[in-house]
Amino acid sequence: MATLDGLPRLRDVIQRHGLDARKALGQNFLLDLNLTQKIARSAGSLEGVTVFEVGPGPGGLTRAILSLGAEKLVAVERDSRCLPALAEISDHYPERLEVIEGDALKIDFAALAREKSEGRPVKIIANLPYNVGTQLLLNWLLPEDGPEPGKQPWPPFWESLTLMFQREVGLRIVADETDDHYGRLGVLAGWRTQAHMVFDVPPQAFTPPPKVTSTVVHLTPRETPLPCDVAKLERVTLAAFGQRRKMLRQSLKPVGGETLLNAVGIDPQRRAETLSVEEFVAIANAL
Ligand code: SAM
Repeated sequence: MATLDGLPRLRDVIQRHGLDARKALGQNFLLDLNLTQKIARSAGSLEGVTVFEVGPGPGGLTRAILSLGAEKLVAVERDSRCLPALAEISDHYPERLEVIEGDALKIDFAALAREKSEGRPVKIIANLPYNVGTQLLLNWLLPEDGPEPGKQPWPPFWESLTLMFQREVGLRIVADETDDHYGRLGVLAGWRTQAHMVFDVPPQAFTPPPKVTSTVVHLTPRETPLPCDVAKLERVTLAAFGQRRKMLRQSLKPVGGETLLNAVGIDPQRRAETLSVEEFVAIANAL
């Protein structure tokens, strides 16, 4: 049966290249091009955009991104076994796909954007390996300092992030203080971005199926997040959510406790999970 893009069926690609899924690399592949197109579409228009993808694997999402018109796609894959399959996609879409073999956790994506975006807006789209997904998100949310010490460049190099996570992690990313899943991840994502869950993907959509439901999360940077020193915000959220059921006067003791809370007019009897992002920022700024 013909595929949407005229390339071979992903099941055949996997078989031909011997790409049996490796758990250690978080390999759960998506073989349905309708689904991968739906994911790529949630990133909005890809015309005139440079896309970064992490973990293209056999290329299901890669093919969707290219078929939807991304001007250029730079994909970072750690598993060298996938490179011949990806080279076939590259031949099908000449000059548009560049594959970098390497560990995405070690890549400076901001530098990569300067080098590869060719002046176009950058969107990141990925079905992330679960074992590294949260760390990659944090790297994109909390970039390294720019030329001025303590000043992280913001807005960042990316225009949007469209990422697949375990549903549980997705819930934590989009959570606010009205929600049981609220924690450090919700504060950091809420401070710097507007984040929402787009749709869930059931385990049986993947080969092999993972144990849990997944979800696509879309994040766009806030142009002007409330000014705050990231390291201080991290200290406050770590202390506050480290003992989330305790009153703040107790959990925040290591960073200033009641005195600090009184200084910003926050009732020391409240708990971390009731504080808005703005209140966390106020505490961090008063540290
Ligand atoms: N994008 C493909 C899809 O949707 O079918 C594969 C997704 S699979 C969940 C995750 C992919 O990330 C695998 O291809 C795996 O080899 C790759 N990967 C795992 N750890 C990585 C890392 N640190 N850097 C880059 N790629 C990684």
